[in-house]
Amino acid sequence: MEGIKEAEAEFGIVAKVLVCGLKQTPREQTQDIFAEVVSLAQKGLVGFDFAGNEADFPTQALEEAIKETQALGLPLTFHAGECGCVANVAHAIQLGISRIGHGTALLKDRTTMEKVVQSGTTIEMCLTSNLQTGAAPRLADFPYQALYDMGANITINTDNRTVSDTNLTKEYALFVQYFGTSKADFYRFNQNAIRASFTSEAEKEKLLKKL
Ligand SMILES: [Zn+2]
Repeated sequence: MEGIKEAEAEFGIVAKVLVCGLKQTPREQTQDIFAEVVSLAQKGLVGFDFAGNEADFPTQALEEAIKETQALGLPLTFHAGECGCVANVAHAIQLGISRIGHGTALLKDRTTMEKVVQSGTTIEMCLTSNLQTGAAPRLADFPYQALYDMGANITINTDNRTVSDTNLTKEYALFVQYFGTSKADFYRFNQNAIRASFTSEAEKEKLLKKL
């Protein structure tokens, strides 16, 4: 947390921390970690995250773990829709998760896309990661245009930057190159990101003005 504070001061950015648990890790182990770190909520921890093996550990099977995590009083983000399994996205929305990483499988299912829009869920798209893992073999396999046309809250994300050897600049370039994403679109996606972020309304307002 001290490193975060240093970075904020040095680079003039606002940074928050999510602690990530893997879906395949035994539930008790993850809950022990989450319960241990939740005391850092005053120091920059703003929430939790679940990533990892989605095919063998679908959202429905994690329901208890998700509810236990929510009971700690902080929101969570959730990686879903990377294994062609749109049900994992639908169940995450049902469980009240407002920020979903990937959402790639949404392309297959208009009903769930409508749920994304109705619930105001944010879809954090990670193109490079999905191309590398085969979650989307081609950029045409991304639900970008469909979600865009329906007015869904899209944001541009990296997933794990070191694993995927990417950063936001590279991701932006991909969006421009393949989807013709405009400056106005990027502006809106970043407004979406601020609104979906786990911080106070006052801080969001401040960031929106700065943006
Ligand atoms: Zn992910």
